[in-house]
Order: sequence, then C-alpha cells, then structure tokens
Amino acid sequence: MTYAPQTIVEPPLVVEHPDAVDWTASADVVVVGQGGAGLCAAVEARALGSSVLAIDRFGGGGSTAFSGGIFYAGETRWQKEGGVSDSKEEMYKYLQIELKDAVKPETLKKYCYGADKDLEWLAEHGVPFRGDAYLEKTAYPPEGKFLYYSGNENVTGYKEKAKPAPRGHRVVAKGFSGYAYYAGISAAADRAGVQRMMHARVMRLVTDTLGQVIGVEILRIESAKGQAEHAREARRVIPLKPFNADGAQKAIAEARRIEGAYGVRRLIRARGGVILATGGFNYDLEYMAKHLPIYGRNYRSLIRMGSIGCDGSGMRLGESVGGTLAYMDNLYSAKVLSPPKELLNGILVNTAGSRFVNEEIYTGYLGRAIGREADGQAWLILERKSLRKAILQCFQAGWTARLFTGPVLLNILFGKTKGASTLPGLARKCGISPSGLGKAVEDYNRAIAQNAPDPWGKKTRHPIKRGPFRALDLSIKGKFGFTMVITLGGLRVNEETGNVIRPDGSVIDGLYAAGRAAVGLCAIGYFSGVSLSDGVFSGRRAGEAASARAGRLHDRASDAKSAATRTA
Ligand SMILES: Cc1cc2nc3c(=O)[nH]c(=O)nc-3n(C[C@H](O)[C@H](O)[C@H](O)COP(=O)(O)OP(=O)(O)OC[C@H]3O[C@@H](n4cnc5c(N)ncnc54)[C@H](O)[C@@H]3O)c2cc1C
Repeated sequence: MTYAPQTIVEPPLVVEHPDAVDWTASADVVVVGQGGAGLCAAVEARALGSSVLAIDRFGGGGSTAFSGGIFYAGETRWQKEGGVSDSKEEMYKYLQIELKDAVKPETLKKYCYGADKDLEWLAEHGVPFRGDAYLEKTAYPPEGKFLYYSGNENVTGYKEKAKPAPRGHRVVAKGFSGYAYYAGISAAADRAGVQRMMHARVMRLVTDTLGQVIGVEILRIESAKGQAEHAREARRVIPLKPFNADGAQKAIAEARRIEGAYGVRRLIRARGGVILATGGFNYDLEYMAKHLPIYGRNYRSLIRMGSIGCDGSGMRLGESVGGTLAYMDNLYSAKVLSPPKELLNGILVNTAGSRFVNEEIYTGYLGRAIGREADGQAWLILERKSLRKAILQCFQAGWTARLFTGPVLLNILFGKTKGASTLPGLARKCGISPSGLGKAVEDYNRAIAQNAPDPWGKKTRHPIKRGPFRALDLSIKGKFGFTMVITLGGLRVNEETGNVIRPDGSVIDGLYAAGRAAVGLCAIGYFSGVSLSDGVFSGRRAGEAASARAGRLHDRASDAKSAATRTA
C-alpha cells in the first residue's frame, strides 16, 4: 500500500505591512500544539501577563495524553514523603552519563536544580503526585505506586558513578496516567485564560520582510460535522495498539482529506512570538524514510509512541524560515523483557551467539543495543520451564503491567519462538552460531556457580542448564517483537530562550520551539520521565521568552506612540 505524503507545510508568507493584513485573531504569544510542552508554555506566558492563543491540529493532548505520565525529578518533597533521600547533584551526575551532551552542561544543571520546582509548579496547577515508592526493577510502577527507578540509576555501571534514587514521579491516576497529566495542565490553561483553538492545522508561518516571525496561517475545520469526522480519525491512531500501522496510515490520509474538504484558511497574528510545540515525527513516513531508514522500512512492526499529530510539521515549519535540525537519526527504540520477571532468567544473544548487553537494562537501552550492537537481530535463550513461568506471570499481571506483558505474551506465542532439547540444536534453528552460544551459556553458568559478578552487571541470574531450551525472537523487524519508538531529534534552539536558531547559531526572531519538536534534554538518551520533564522545562522557557519579547515590543510601540503624540 502507498500513502500520500502526510505533511504539507508551505513556504512562509512574507508580508510587507503587518498592520494591513486581515488577521482573524491575534495574541501576544501563539502556541502551536496543545500537548504537554505547548500548554506549559501557554500557562507560563499567561502568568507573565501575555495574551495567549494555543492551536492544535486535533483535539489537543498529543502524545502527552497517551503517555505513562512519568516526570523525572530529584530531591523532591514526594521522594521525602516516600522515605527516599536524594540530591540534585547526584541526579546531575547520573544524567550526565545518560543524556550525554544533547544540551550544554549548564543547561542540564539548570534542569536538574529546577526539576523539583517544575514538579511543584505542575502540582500547583492541578497535576497530582505522591511518594509511594516501588523499588524493584520494573518498566512501569504497579497500581498504588507513584515513584520508581525509571532509568538505570540502580543498575551496575551506573550506581557506582552516581548515588541511585528513584526519580520517576508518576502522576496519580489509574493505569497509564498521562491522561491525568494532560487533564491537569489543560484545566490550568483554561483557568489561566489561554484561548484555545482545536482542529486547526498550522500550514505556514508568516514573517515580515526582516524575516521575523509574526504569525501563522491555519487551515481550520469550523463545522461541527467536520470536527467530529476529524476527531474520529485521530482516535484511530492509538500508539500502543498492536498491528495498527496500516490503520494509522489510513486514518492519517483520511484526516488530511477531511481538512481539505472542510478547512478554512485564517491568518493569526503573534505579537511576541510563535512557539512550535508540535511533538515528534513518529507518524511522518517521509521523515522516517529520510532520517531513520531502517525504522521507516519496518514501520509495520513498530509501536510508534506518539499521537496522530506527531507529523513532523513543526520541524518543517522551523526549517521553512531557516531553522536547522539535529539528532533526527536518533530515537528511543524499546524492547520489553520485564515484566514478566521470569524472562530475566534468560540471556540475550546476537547471531554470533554472544551476549552483548545487561538484560536488566532499561527497555529503551535494550532495544537500542539490539539495533546497534546486534545489527537488529537478537534472541533470548532460556530453559523451557522459565518460559512457561513467564507465560503464567503474563496472565497473572495486573492491569497496568499487562500493557507490557500483553505484547511479550504475543511474541512468545506467535513470534516464531523456537525450541530444541539441546543448545546447539536451538542455535541452528535460530541461525546463530552453536559454538558461540555454547560458550556464552557456559560462561554465564560458571559465573553463577562461582558466585562471580556477571560481566554485564546482571543481578537476576539463574543457570541455563536443563533442556529443553527455548529462544524468543527479539529482532527489530519481528512482527510480534513490538519495538516501541519515539523520535528524539528536532529543531536546534538557543538554550537560554528556546528561540529556533539557524545553522550559524543566530536566532530567528519571534520563533521558539519546545518539547519533542526541539532538540532537548533527551535528544540523545531517552528514558521514562525525561520527555515530559523536558516539555515543562523547555515549554516554560519558551513561554517566558516569547512573553518577554511581546512586552519589549509593546513597550517600544508605546514609546513610539507617545513620542509621535509629543511631536504632534
Ligand atoms: C505510550 C506512551 C508512553 C509515554 N510515556 C512517557 C512517560 O511516562 N514519560 C515521558 O517523559 N515521556 C513519555 N512518553 C513520551 C512523551 O509522551 C512525549 O515525548 C511528549 O509527551 C511529547 O510532548 P510534546 O508536548 O512535545 O508533544 P505532544 O504531546 O505530542 O503534542 C504535540 C501536539 O501538537 C499538535 N500539532 C502537531 N502539528 C501541528 C500543526 N501543524 N498545527 C497544529 N497543531 C499541531 C498535535 O496534534 C499534538 O496535540 C510516552 C509516549 C507514549 C506514546
């Protein structure tokens, strides 16, 4: 099946006399995208006295509303409540290892020393948190637990370098709690008086002749019928729904058709600035093919973690006025092994039969290691009895854990799991080196017998001795392997203001970017919590800077007016 290109962003509209344009609406700050980053920017700009108009192509919420609602912060009052001691400096040390140099060290430090305040800010605005901690290794905390190790803090190789602490703060709600995060910040935006416009797609930026961004042109669905049809298509793109790739592409094409059929063009003026908070580009196959070709080719076997609005349009809008992109070939690529816990008794090997990663590492790094260290092909080798126990654990899992165990179970049952009574026989069936596998298992068992540390730092260990044996396919292209992906690249921004910058580092006046549309904290390394945190950090930064610019321009205009009055 081929699909029409999904993302159409037009070249900017350049106007000579902004005051002569027939603007439909105007605001000091115009925010494009009403996910987490956009609404944080909007609320911040309102608090600083600016008028704010927030626009969304669909009904708002974006990936944020689908998310797990995990926010990453250290030395918080919720950690204290849960009996956890932590320090911002240790968080900074840890994040330097994880997030590398996606942002400058001073920017990372600023985030680490302010994340607790951002969390307080969210709580003040109605997003609830609690300190009930869950200290075991898990991909997501069980019901009733709201604080956990969301990264690799407590994993060998990390915990020696930075004192570990659980810093993943989960919004208090049942199940995947991103919906409650969005509900809180969305209600705060309404209370703050943010004007909100839905079913309006920003098609292009408007600039003056100096290249300053002064507004946007939208294609807005104004009829209730058109909006209902449009919303129905958006609901068809559910990020965690398996085998939905073609369904999602159809919905995307249909949403475009509806926009074409019902959309009305309008010009919106931004007196201080336009903030692009449009999310990533998971659902833009053109960008995927260009920047992440392996994933673009195998999009049908991916779980694209984003909303229908993750269409790369913010990045294209930025590029259309000279902005520059970075880290577009980087992504979060996750494979879940645990829960169910029992699978951790296996070892993960590549086609040479060798281990290449600590199987207990964060899901995102596990998937990335499979992509990078194993050329996309990996098998989990374990005893049949462990696999049976794992299946049982999948059935026994609570509602939230089932989000992870469900796909794992499907892979076990339908993902061409191989079985053999001997390890060489199993290796041959999988197309991996029998001698390599034999050695890997022998080394693994010997280390356990001698009580020696695992060379990869794994803690959950069980010898793989008694056949029959099983091999679970964890390759990227495996249809049942469910590789979860989030794109991490975006527009380069000035780290003080969030202004979109050109390749030479100069700022594009009046244009800002935040959240996954921009290069942020997690452009190199993502784990649960850092994207929502980055949305607050970069969203508030852009909201503040755009608001300040609106104030400066307003003051300048008032001064000019009084001077003109005095002269007259
Ligand atoms: C299942 C799942 C679980 C996750 N769990 C977590 C977690 O627990 N913690 C964490 O940190 N991260 C998590 N993530 C990632 C995180 O949700 C996203 O990276 C983050 O929410 C992105 O926020 P954003 O504000 O940048 O974009 P979004 O929330 O995606 O919002 C972008 C908005 O922009 C709109 N838009 C796009 N283009 C246009 C346009 N041209 N005109 C108008 N509007 C437009 C879209 O419709 C959308 O509403 C998860 C993601 C998923 C899918």
